[in-house]
Amino acid sequence: MNQYIDFNSTIYPFPPKPAFLSKDEKKHCREKIKRLLKQQDAVMVAHYYTDPEIQALAEETGGCVADSLEMARFGNHHPASTLFVAGVRFMGETAKILNPEKRVLMPTLEAECSLDLGCPEREFTKFCDDNPDRTVVVYANTSAAVKARADWVVTSSIAVELIDYLDSQGKKIIWAPDRHLGNYVRKQTGADILCWQGACIVHDEFKTQALIRMKGLHPDAAVLVHPESPQAVIDLADAVGSTSQLIKAAQSLPHQKLIVATDKGIFYKMQQACPEKQLFEAPTAGEGASCRSCAHCPWMAMNGLQAIVQGLERGGVQHEILVEKELREKALIPLNRMLDFATQLK
Ligand code: SF4
Repeated sequence: MNQYIDFNSTIYPFPPKPAFLSKDEKKHCREKIKRLLKQQDAVMVAHYYTDPEIQALAEETGGCVADSLEMARFGNHHPASTLFVAGVRFMGETAKILNPEKRVLMPTLEAECSLDLGCPEREFTKFCDDNPDRTVVVYANTSAAVKARADWVVTSSIAVELIDYLDSQGKKIIWAPDRHLGNYVRKQTGADILCWQGACIVHDEFKTQALIRMKGLHPDAAVLVHPESPQAVIDLADAVGSTSQLIKAAQSLPHQKLIVATDKGIFYKMQQACPEKQLFEAPTAGEGASCRSCAHCPWMAMNGLQAIVQGLERGGVQHEILVEKELREKALIPLNRMLDFATQLK
């Protein structure tokens, strides 16, 4: 794999945190955002990993809070002429690919994702070209250019089902970019998967030994893990799944205490789903921990109230997602396959 990209030496510079706002400043921003959304016929689509106040605002204004698959679906069906995507850039790109006639704005186009950054188009294309007998399946957390090179796009909520289906068709698979999710899916399905070696900087930091110690302190707690986490952490889980699946598991498991190994932004919707339960962040500390993310994606954190105001007020090159027509049409094919497959599963 190192012939394509040196993952070990890749350190992503983290963006600055949004400025601290007083209570009054926040209130002022919220009112302004509500007004601007109406004026611009815009609807806000927020990811589970954004800060709770952003998720609350999306809900209050008739938008949605969801995982990347549901965000794509919602934007596709909502009549608003502008989609305002609070998340990271690939989510805005996906919205634009699916809705070319709509204006897609974001609080900042600098909100990256380590999975997307760790899968550059040129190197990934070479990887695919070197393995021409394999069906290319890429995670939604990729650029439009990488999607355009793929046969299928997938999200974690339907990854096992899709790979199971392709395996039953006798397909050998290239999986990109997340190595942990790729290994998890391989283990679940037994499919022949060749994995790109990317990782999410948030989930990669959950620590096995510290989690075992935490379980010792709360023996009656269930452990919920997102499959972008290392296998040793997944092995400790009572439930493994995408963000939406973890929220459902939090509701359905009988445990009153839940230790959650995914971005802590999910606590907002999880606590809404089961207000009587006690939620704990899974540890990111422990031997070898850099704790650079501390269970919150630094790029998701860029979706602050001031940035949202700026995005709605200014639009333009700093906030509007544009995807060139030819690229969009190519990327649309595997994206539509994913949406059709997800619909059939439902
Ligand atoms: S949490 Fe991980 S996968 Fe999600 S946007 Fe941040 S870096 Fe990417």
